[in-house]
Amino acid sequence: MLKIGITGNIGSGKTTVSKIFEILGIPVFYADDAAKRVMVADQQLITEIKAAFGNESYFSDGTLNRKHIAAIVFNNDKQLARLNAIVHPATFRAFDAWVKTISNVPYVLKEAALLFESASFKMCDYNIMVQAPFESRVERVIKRDGLTREEIKKRESYQFSEEEKSGLADFVIKNDGSELVIPQVLALHEKICSLVH
Ligand code: ATP
Repeated sequence: MLKIGITGNIGSGKTTVSKIFEILGIPVFYADDAAKRVMVADQQLITEIKAAFGNESYFSDGTLNRKHIAAIVFNNDKQLARLNAIVHPATFRAFDAWVKTISNVPYVLKEAALLFESASFKMCDYNIMVQAPFESRVERVIKRDGLTREEIKKRESYQFSEEEKSGLADFVIKNDGSELVIPQVLALHEKICSLVH
């Protein structure tokens, strides 16, 4: 069973594309959702977060004090990198545990916004990038989340550029309106199935 990473910049459509793979019967691990889960479930991670950012990182009922963490990492690249360095390994552990529960499929997908930045692409057999131009992505994200253009730019500043990502990707799905997406996913699904030994 192959492990395939899938990523793309903010609003590129990586979740939308992953849902199409799911319809084809391919299990998808959503790393960003998993990261939120492990922050309140993985005891090793909870201990590390408290050690790095203080006991007040969690409320007495065990829920995460998001405001406290956000205040520390907001506009502080060093602290954000520190948080990611703690959370990413816990998410990798969750992915490995999840993979062990799956059988009888040719491959699984790992959808992650920071697939390349976190180096988790190296743990995948192949990696897919979903590509869309900045203007389309901005339009979609403003509509979906009500974020401003500046906020989107700020989030992107933590991510590799589209060029860097496509240089690292084995496959690209174009979600820029130039080609229909579903046929691209079908063709890629066939291609990946043909790569399974
Ligand atoms: P993020 O990194 O912000 O989570 P994402 O890469 O997962 O984004 P999606 O959530 O899949 O992107 O897509 C962003 C928004 O754009 C969603 O509201 C989605 O429905 C919409 N969208 C995606 N692809 C298209 C498209 N080809 N045409 C129109 N809307 C689209």
